Amino acid sequence: MNGIYVHIPFCNSICSYCDFPKQIAKEETKEIYMDKLIQEITEMKEQDWFKDWSKKTQSVYIGGGTPNALSLLQLERLFQALEPFLKQAKENTIEINPELLTASQVHLFKKYHIERISMGVQTFQASLLKEIRRKHTEQMVIEAVSLLRKEGISNINMDMMYGIPHQTLKDVKADVKKVLKLRVPHISYYSLIVEENTILAYQLKQNQIHIPDDDSVVDMAQYVTKRLKKKKYTHYEISNYSKAGFESIHNLGYWNCEEYIGFGAGACGYHHQKRFTHPLSLKKYYAKEVEIEPISLRESKQEFMMLGLRKLSGISIKSYYHRFQTYPKDDFDLVSLFKNGLLEEKNGFIRIKRDKIWLGNLVFEAFVGGDEVEG
Ligand code: SF4
Repeated sequence: MNGIYVHIPFCNSICSYCDFPKQIAKEETKEIYMDKLIQEITEMKEQDWFKDWSKKTQSVYIGGGTPNALSLLQLERLFQALEPFLKQAKENTIEINPELLTASQVHLFKKYHIERISMGVQTFQASLLKEIRRKHTEQMVIEAVSLLRKEGISNINMDMMYGIPHQTLKDVKADVKKVLKLRVPHISYYSLIVEENTILAYQLKQNQIHIPDDDSVVDMAQYVTKRLKKKKYTHYEISNYSKAGFESIHNLGYWNCEEYIGFGAGACGYHHQKRFTHPLSLKKYYAKEVEIEPISLRESKQEFMMLGLRKLSGISIKSYYHRFQTYPKDDFDLVSLFKNGLLEEKNGFIRIKRDKIWLGNLVFEAFVGGDEVEG
């Protein structure tokens, strides 16, 4: 099954840790971008291969940036261009920032079948929100959730974060309590990563802040998992937890190496054994520059393993064989990973052992580079 991703690279302010493709833009820049984006979607819809491919669209994901930083008119034009896919897909998601959500936006989401909302929250603590330069308050999150529910949208994901500068386990405990109180069916809990060329990286270099050490972050992660599992959330991917039936169809598509198309500056696509990357620069995007990179059989196998093992259920050996006509053990040297107790095989699946999920990077390293194991 196929997915469609649309990137809106605009935000009203910049968070300290963020390295996503985004910018603060004037209204005029947004207008030009939306024209080009809609043109890209329209031209794609006219292509014969895409007409067939898109019949299998199971999810549409509008991400950013901050999609709800667009005007109502801009949002509606985008939704109209995507309407055939929005009507047919099983899951349509839009990312929003709570402080910008209005009743008119929610009406528009409903009108165009967008009934899954992914809300950037990260933390409820006022001092930590200030630290990472987020603009909302706890009250704004509560009001956004209640507005969505009032309008009949209850499929809500909350993006949360641990490892924030100066955050303690006590802060994480308070956040978990608050997020549970909101009873949303899906929670993503990410570990903050210091990426190059971010405000955070600069602040760290200047010794202006300190971030929790690795052991504290593991404690936070383990606490989050324990609490959410106790409240009947299934931990189904390293950073994702959901109530039964609310797993993200779109993201599962990525982890299962299914095909997707990306529209917009900075968006990526994967189809026909190739990776398509749109440039981050608007100028280059408007000039229709796209990087196209063929994916070798070896790379496909590596991605299948690395993305698939992010899921707690692991990879299905049968699916691997169905796709490649070989078995994982033929293609990769997994002996030491099994011997060291990092991987296990159960009911036809290879997966990272539950208590070793925090050591995922050690497992993924085994699939980077190298040649195929000779038979
Ligand atoms: S709102 Fe999201 S995309 Fe925008 S700067 Fe913050 S983290 Fe980045």
